[in-house]
Amino acid sequence: MIPRAFAAFLVLLPASPALADPAPGEGFDVTSYELALTPDIQNGTIAGRETVHLRALGDGLQRISFSGNALSIDSATLDGASLAANVRGGVLTFDLPKPLPRGRTVKLELAYHGRPARGFARSAAALYTSYFACDWMICAQDQFGDKAAFSLDLRVPAGMDTLSVGRQVAKRPGPDGSEIHSWKAPRPYSAYLYGFAVGRFARASDKAESTRLIYLSDVAEAADLKQRFAETGEMVRFLSDKAGVPLPVAEYSQLLVEGNEAQEAATFSVLGVDSLPKNVDDPAEDWAVVHELAHQWWGNLITCTTLRDFWLNEGITSFMTAAWKEHRYGRAAYEAELDVARRRLDTARLEGFDKPLAWEGRYPTLKTRRAVQYSKGALFMDHLRTTLGEAAFWSGLRRYTRAHAGGTVTSIHFEHAMEKASGRDLRPLFSEWVFGEGAFPEAEVAGRR
Ligand SMILES: [Zn+2]
Repeated sequence: MIPRAFAAFLVLLPASPALADPAPGEGFDVTSYELALTPDIQNGTIAGRETVHLRALGDGLQRISFSGNALSIDSATLDGASLAANVRGGVLTFDLPKPLPRGRTVKLELAYHGRPARGFARSAAALYTSYFACDWMICAQDQFGDKAAFSLDLRVPAGMDTLSVGRQVAKRPGPDGSEIHSWKAPRPYSAYLYGFAVGRFARASDKAESTRLIYLSDVAEAADLKQRFAETGEMVRFLSDKAGVPLPVAEYSQLLVEGNEAQEAATFSVLGVDSLPKNVDDPAEDWAVVHELAHQWWGNLITCTTLRDFWLNEGITSFMTAAWKEHRYGRAAYEAELDVARRRLDTARLEGFDKPLAWEGRYPTLKTRRAVQYSKGALFMDHLRTTLGEAAFWSGLRRYTRAHAGGTVTSIHFEHAMEKASGRDLRPLFSEWVFGEGAFPEAEVAGRR
């Protein structure tokens, strides 16, 4: 066993003393990802090509880094000149032939293949991705603040169905009896929201306001899908009203798979049979459907800039799940949903782990992180609702949602919207629940007004 201090020293030692590796995504802004991928459903592998347009944010950008993954890079070029790829400490790095000046846009072209270690999952007759996009493509997983255009050509056996971000804009014959399905995102999204699925899917659809709702599955028939997702349209109407912004996609798809999946992607969600109500006549446990749908606004359209403010994605969404239950099933259902959050936070407190919502430190487990960012976040929303009153609270949420649609946010943006809507000084309340004492640099705290 290596003593802890020594182990830290080993990890921190830069591979090249002259030039430290930047963190994935640091120092540049990705404007677009264009991918052409061939997934192998049977073997859980992928091969493909990717073009990344990126812009240097500062002067003298010499290295660019992405999240490391299990893929092998077959070739890499920058504006046509070949580049060497290095993987060090879980980070994939390219040394540039010459430093880039601020604002310069370049084209990185990659070819790769391999078996993604995470983010690839199987259902009965389908392959789908889940959260870890930068395990099956080259991107920077935790750079939530860098939203980029995304397009994907999926090469699949003829007759297969595909799902990805946005709309399927083209379908053409490919080599060796394959088909190429082209998908394109309607707006820039953060990398963790990219995804796709391939399989043979039953399909049903509905309409809610101006959005087409599409239900797909490899484990359920069309009629069953229609019944299981029957409440989606009413959820869309409820959430659009509370957001003050219509569902921001022309097509929203829900893919039903085996297991207990509940994961949002940019314009679709993947839901496991075990995450949905056991009995289709009793939709009272429909949290997964409404939670992932709510991410279309809070999370996908308005995205926390860093993981520090992840509660803005998950706390608001968990609260909106309770608010939907109140709307659909009554006040007791709202309280019951918040009681689940209270119990989860209490468990973390008993373990001595209660933190401000925007705490920046390292959580010991995923469960404790969720107890704060999901559960305490939802309870803070409820507390704000009680403190500010119905009119000011919902007006503040609408103000926040409208003002930052398509953008990225920190807790300060949310605080400002709630202060403007209520006409109150909410600094003490936000200090207590969100920021904590002395957790933030002076300059940033000064920016709270
Ligand atoms: Zn969520």
